[in-house]
Amino acid sequence: MKLLIIEDESALNASIVAYLQQVGYTCESAEDFRKAWRKIANQDYDCVILDLTLPGGNGLDLIRLLKTNNPEAGIIIISAKNALDDKISGLELGADDYLTKPFHLSELNARLRSVIRRRNITSQKVIQLGSLEVYPESAEALVEGRKMTLTKKEFELLLYFVSNKNRVLTKDSIAEHLWGDHIETLDSLDFVYTHIKNLRRKLIETGAEDPIQTIYGMGYKFNY
Ligand code: CA
Repeated sequence: MKLLIIEDESALNASIVAYLQQVGYTCESAEDFRKAWRKIANQDYDCVILDLTLPGGNGLDLIRLLKTNNPEAGIIIISAKNALDDKISGLELGADDYLTKPFHLSELNARLRSVIRRRNITSQKVIQLGSLEVYPESAEALVEGRKMTLTKKEFELLLYFVSNKNRVLTKDSIAEHLWGDHIETLDSLDFVYTHIKNLRRKLIETGAEDPIQTIYGMGYKFNY
């Protein structure tokens, strides 16, 4: 796993690199826009962690370059608290996640693992779990060859479950995955419950045995 860390605060850059190397990643770093641009133009990375405000240019342009040159790379934005507009633009351009500074390096590592896991799963043409087939690109899911009729959110939820099968997912992490930044504008935990109820019903109607286990007080687990 090769990572690129783009951050102009030298001390922060160095501490991210040291931490991620210690947990087993190969890391390269860039502290300004031009150097980052050159690296992205010439090499492929598994995941890029980037600050958006950089000397010499805007990190959003680096995301655009990544999307053309290295579309398989995961992208995690690390940005200052006051940069909400930039974060949203970054996610719209296709970044996978963001963290607001200051953050714990262990949290960055957890996000990184989740981005890499999701990338590995969604780069597959089809994810097959027993009689369940999920097609990330066309957003289709079949049980025993019968197509499920899912809303966009239900499909995202199913894909999230499938990418994390046999792990407990908390309601919070599901809400954050489905709504990201807009989480606070919704009564999101009730929405999670409703989406899970509908997804469960549709899975059963299409012929699956109920794969969504409720873990009381913790969340949900997808067993298939
Ligand atoms: Ca900066």
